[in-house]
Amino acid sequence: MPDIRKLFDTIYESAPFQKIQAADYLPLIENEIQEAKREIDLITSNTQSPTFKNTIEALEFSGKYLDRMISMFFNLNSAETNDEIQKLAQKISPMLSEFGNDIRLNQKLFQRVEAVYLQQKELDLNAEQTTLLENRYKSFARNGAALSEDKKNKLREIDKKLSSLSLKFGENVLAETNAFELHLTDEKDISGIPEGALEAAKNLAESKDKEGWVFDLNYPSLVPFLTYADNRELRKKMLLASGSKGFHNDELDNRETVLSITRLRFERANLLGYKTHAHYVLEERMAKTPGKVNDFLKELLEKAKPAAQKEFMQLQDFARERDGIEQLEKWDGAYYTEKLKQKLFDLDDEKLKPYFKLENVVLGVFTIAHQLYDLNFEEVHDVDTYHEDVKTYKVTDNSGNFTALFYADFFPRPGKRNGAWMTSYKPQCIKDGINDRPHISIVCNFTKPTKTKPSLLTFNEVTTLFHEFGHALHGMLANTTYPSLSGTSVYWDFVELPSQVLENWCYEKEALKLFARHYETGEDLPMEYVEKIRKSSSFMEGIQTLRQLSFGLLDMSWHGIDPTTIKDVKAHENKAFSATNLYPETPETCMSTAFSHIFQGGYSSGYYSYKWAEVLDADAFELFREKGIFNKEVAVSFKENILSRGGTEDPMILYKRFRGQEPKPDALLRRAGLLEKVS
Ligand SMILES: [Zn+2]
Repeated sequence: MPDIRKLFDTIYESAPFQKIQAADYLPLIENEIQEAKREIDLITSNTQSPTFKNTIEALEFSGKYLDRMISMFFNLNSAETNDEIQKLAQKISPMLSEFGNDIRLNQKLFQRVEAVYLQQKELDLNAEQTTLLENRYKSFARNGAALSEDKKNKLREIDKKLSSLSLKFGENVLAETNAFELHLTDEKDISGIPEGALEAAKNLAESKDKEGWVFDLNYPSLVPFLTYADNRELRKKMLLASGSKGFHNDELDNRETVLSITRLRFERANLLGYKTHAHYVLEERMAKTPGKVNDFLKELLEKAKPAAQKEFMQLQDFARERDGIEQLEKWDGAYYTEKLKQKLFDLDDEKLKPYFKLENVVLGVFTIAHQLYDLNFEEVHDVDTYHEDVKTYKVTDNSGNFTALFYADFFPRPGKRNGAWMTSYKPQCIKDGINDRPHISIVCNFTKPTKTKPSLLTFNEVTTLFHEFGHALHGMLANTTYPSLSGTSVYWDFVELPSQVLENWCYEKEALKLFARHYETGEDLPMEYVEKIRKSSSFMEGIQTLRQLSFGLLDMSWHGIDPTTIKDVKAHENKAFSATNLYPETPETCMSTAFSHIFQGGYSSGYYSYKWAEVLDADAFELFREKGIFNKEVAVSFKENILSRGGTEDPMILYKRFRGQEPKPDALLRRAGLLEKVS
């Protein structure tokens, strides 16, 4: 097995992709887990009494190479995987969760952490150290380390039940999704559906040895069907099938599971000393309390509802005039929204793409980062990568100091998962007086260049690039002492602020003129297009907002109260939806029984954060708009107070330092055209 220190003896200590064979990952990671355990043993066997330095800091800086190996391996599994790596992941993931449990259940370690935590007041810690200590203590306490033995057993029992219930919830949703298909053989029935969606439906039919087209309840099939299929009865069939998953009074029905999950979560929260599950979750969020989240959702609802009702009337009138529809139903929404949008904005991607050559957009975003944050990007060729498509850049500040290493991996290939994301290969931290700089990467799946055409991006891809680059700035500008508080290691209702705020530059003339020019003629993107992009991006925003709010309110209705009195899932849901309904009720459907975000994934008491993040980014960007989108003072303040600070302090404190006040929803409502603009 190669020596780990020699492996990382590379330029900038960059990840040594070419030096490690797939088969080496398992022994290397196993070895580093042992090494990390030895480091922890040294902490717990220390005969000196626990101090911040010998316990909290020592723990923070342990497992350095383990972290680097883990980031390399899992990033590889996302961006350049194969059967061998996938099989290894099946072995490595449980090893790591076992290691995590070993730490959390290490009673000796907890006692030392607790001892430091209890002397906190006498320790004269700075803000970042206080956050680190609190995080560390809570990572134990929130998992029951401070409970008595019998309560600990109770907690373990609840956790076991919860994990099998959420597994069952997910399995039922999946089985329901797979159980339904819409098989069509008559050309009439596919009228309106675009070529790409039809081709996929034909392939799906073929894979099932069927003639014609098969549509199912997976989003890539369902969404185009509901948006484009002219046949209203079939749209209804698809929508009702999709909306009634886990709600058929059979063995896949999820109603009892929902009730059990919410009751157990409530019980668990009580056991740990919290009033409800939402109180437990929100303690580690910017929003902090259920009261704050509910006020937030209700304020937005109150302000967005009149606009949503107006839009609904407009859509209803349009459907009546066009097709004689007297009552707009849930299965009509996407369809008529799309038709009306086509009528009002004649804007298609093919017209825009020639103005967004990838190389120009990348240079554009680099220039923006230079003008705002004094960053300089220089492509380098001496850094190891996992694929020849990956580009590497040395990032420096205006004095030439090395700031970060930046990787960009733009094109799809087999072995790369869908979507776009930002990730890191090395965290930033300050140790022994040395500021160790981060290695940051963005991974996307953009249109590839061909022999005759360069890579030309859709506008959606342009905003995606800005989004991921915004996350990357959060990573590259990090300037904290402790790696676990660095860069994007922040509460997750705060993490989308840097990414979403940067998307705003894509709609600004001053920024677009830096990069949006025709790849053949060199002509600037016509301003009428910019206006259309802007207007169409907030089209039917009121209805959309109400929909998002309804999900957030439903989530809070399950988790922000004592759920033991709830007996009827559908009746409870109808009550939660009563303020946000625009369409007639459909007794056949139930959202909760297939709401995987909150009953299977980790979004319980967190659905509000989608809107929360939008409020933050609009509110933050409004300051840039007021003072100028390249205003240095605002940019420096954003960098000093937000981008460089990671999770060193509560995000509300950081935000208020930048903005002077708590975020207000008005900027978002104005941007979305839901509030009258103030002149
Ligand atoms: Zn993001």
